[in-house]
Amino acid sequence: MYALKYVQAKSVKEAAALLAANPEAKLLAGGMTLIPTLKQRLAQPTHLVDIAQLAELRKIEVKGGKLVIGAGARHHDVATSAVVRKAIPALAGLASAIGDPQVRNCGTIGGSVANNDPAADYPAAGLGLNATVVTTKREIAAEKFFQGMFTTALGEGEIIVRIEFPLVKRAAYSKFHHPASGYAMAGVFIAQAADGVRVAVTGAGPGVFRWKAAEAALAKGLKPAAIDGAKLDASGLNDDMHADREYRANLVRVMAKRALVKFSGKK
Ligand SMILES: Cc1cc2nc3c(=O)[nH]c(=O)nc-3n(C[C@H](O)[C@H](O)[C@H](O)COP(=O)(O)OP(=O)(O)OC[C@H]3O[C@@H](n4cnc5c(N)ncnc54)[C@H](O)[C@@H]3O)c2cc1C
Repeated sequence: MYALKYVQAKSVKEAAALLAANPEAKLLAGGMTLIPTLKQRLAQPTHLVDIAQLAELRKIEVKGGKLVIGAGARHHDVATSAVVRKAIPALAGLASAIGDPQVRNCGTIGGSVANNDPAADYPAAGLGLNATVVTTKREIAAEKFFQGMFTTALGEGEIIVRIEFPLVKRAAYSKFHHPASGYAMAGVFIAQAADGVRVAVTGAGPGVFRWKAAEAALAKGLKPAAIDGAKLDASGLNDDMHADREYRANLVRVMAKRALVKFSGKK
């Protein structure tokens, strides 16, 4: 038996009030991470505050030079949105390659970003596109938001409302899927903005990170060959039964090159 109270919030305001009144409550969005966590008794909240049905969290629009995606947008919504496909096609492509159809139809961008799994895809887009996470309390730059494995800047009772992605000249994402889950063994998001190139890596390390040596190399020209000369210290990368750190370092290089090939439109 689960000794918890399930509440379906009717608004973000109500969800925030429920969290404030019940410090051990947890938000439930797509449930793709939280439900398995509960089943394994790794979390035992007093309340589950369900925000999955809130239309106010599912809006997708371009506003003020940014692509604004509500935290409750499902991965499928992002993958198939005409607005996303036009504004930042790489983001729609990224969403279309998350997990499987069930995960894409239930899982939300807000849940993914809040969870900050070190192998998740959206954190790479967030960091690569220099996004801003807007919560019920403040605006947080991606650089400050993603703080390492399953750790974010979110405070108690703080709800992600939307994520704002600045529009860029070009962006591309390439990932090497884990064959069972679809999570990234290594995923590289590259964005070319007016103020420079950003390269964000997921899956390879204990958390999403910017590969600054690649950014410096690409500043001289966005060519796949530039990646060969970019230093990548493998010592801090993940080393597990799926891939050792040297293999992951090589995957990062290969994924970066594949992303750059997408830039030039070649296969
Ligand atoms: C089989 C499988 C394969 C997967 N493959 C991939 C993959 O390839 N790539 C990938 O990136 N991900 C993958 N995922 C994860 C998936 O993307 C989930 O959607 C995501 O991790 C959690 O989103 P959710 O909406 O289900 O959140 P939930 O599970 O409902 O919640 C997760 C956490 O976030 C909190 N939370 C939820 N919404 C908010 C909010 N708005 N504000 C603040 N906190 C919030 C919850 O309280 C909870 O702590 C996979 C999951 C599964 C089960």
